[in-house]
Amino acid sequence: MKYAVFGDIHANLEALTAVLERAAELDVDKYVCMGDIVGYNANPRECLRIVQELGVEMTVKGNHDEQASADSELIGFNPQAAQAIEWTRDHLDDEDKLWLSTLPYKTRIGTKVTLVHATLDMPHMWGYIFDKFSAEVSLEYQFTSLCFFGHTHVPLAFEKFGGLVDGGRYSEVQMTANHKYLINVGSVGQPRDGDPRASFATYCPEEQTIQLHRVDYDVETAQDKIRRAGLPERLAERLGIGR
Ligand code: ZN
Repeated sequence: MKYAVFGDIHANLEALTAVLERAAELDVDKYVCMGDIVGYNANPRECLRIVQELGVEMTVKGNHDEQASADSELIGFNPQAAQAIEWTRDHLDDEDKLWLSTLPYKTRIGTKVTLVHATLDMPHMWGYIFDKFSAEVSLEYQFTSLCFFGHTHVPLAFEKFGGLVDGGRYSEVQMTANHKYLINVGSVGQPRDGDPRASFATYCPEEQTIQLHRVDYDVETAQDKIRRAGLPERLAERLGIGR
């Protein structure tokens, strides 16, 4: 059994298509989505439709999914993100919004894997896990050996054993019994670790391995679409540098 774990798609159709092609090449059996299907890029409906039709096993809700499907005032977002959310609200229909609004903040696959977009301690507060200190807080609320998360758009792996937490960049993780793992799979549609390639992971429960994959995609087309949609220029620029 092999899962593709992907999220922070952010309406980037070119990146999502490239990731799903790679996943098919890797003979993935099931798909798990870490949320933030929409926001920032110019194809929210198309990406939403693909995720719905893919028969994704589980999807959790991201902060952009939440805001795009609500009509509340936008607080705590930077101006470009807020503008993108307003634009996304105008480009989703009521059914799309209802679907996004009913996604859970966190969920489980069986008894061994938890999924959450941001953090397990307060999933609805959208905190960020960038270091072992914030990872430690989330790990206190993790009752499975493995948890996948997103939100930071930076692929990092944290490991806890004997009360100690360590972590950093990874390309592959071989899990050990009685250790806990908290793993960020990076972002499909807006990577921020300095590598502009789309990011996702595969997980094999039998072998207890997680592998990170980076995929080239048509960045120029995604940038053109942002500009033609009248979305902020900064959102196009950052795709080119992965920041
Ligand atoms: Zn995101």
